[in-house]
Amino acid sequence: MAQQERKHGSGTVSPGDTTERVGMQVIRERGGDPEEIRETLIDAIGAEFSTYYYYTNLRTHLAGNEDYKEITEDARLEDRAHFELVMPRVYELDGKLPPDIHDFMARAGCPHAELPDDPTAENVLEVLLEAERCAIRTWSEVCDMTRECDPRTYDMAQRILQEEMDHEAWFIELLSMERDGEVNPAGHFVRGEPGDAPLSTNNRFNESA
Ligand code: ZN
Ligand code: FE
Repeated sequence: MAQQERKHGSGTVSPGDTTERVGMQVIRERGGDPEEIRETLIDAIGAEFSTYYYYTNLRTHLAGNEDYKEITEDARLEDRAHFELVMPRVYELDGKLPPDIHDFMARAGCPHAELPDDPTAENVLEVLLEAERCAIRTWSEVCDMTRECDPRTYDMAQRILQEEMDHEAWFIELLSMERDGEVNPAGHFVRGEPGDAPLSTNNRFNESA
């Protein structure tokens, strides 16, 4: 018996064609530019990857301020989770990570969160705060690019954005107290496990835990 015609049974991509992606066509049909989104994502996760690395150094220099260390560790691991969450999306959009890590880091959309020359807790917290602000600007841009045309990327970006806003509030609280002796609460206590990433976790890193 002949197959009945179905509403979405065929489209602009020929059956079996693996050189085209319907997942990209549907973005174009809605006015988006999947290549531009993909390249913006590579810049954005370059910054997340860089932050994960540089926060390691910042965190270790907060020795003696164990509360600051713990919160920096949450932010550090969540930024790694952001890289992990979005990385497969780059491939889905027919892209790839730069083969050379130097190229990847050169195009990261945020400054490297380098250890300040005078690594006092105040100075370290200021670097952390500004890194979070760069992340908020980055994921807000991705939300703007995808809101109307790419629900999958938008969903990832908005979840990451929410965690970056948590991070900004954490470091505003800590810097306000450390530098100005001012109470400026984030309303936050701790994530469950270090780097819990409640909204952005892709795959758990320690399945045995
Ligand atoms: Zn992040
Ligand atoms: Fe962050």
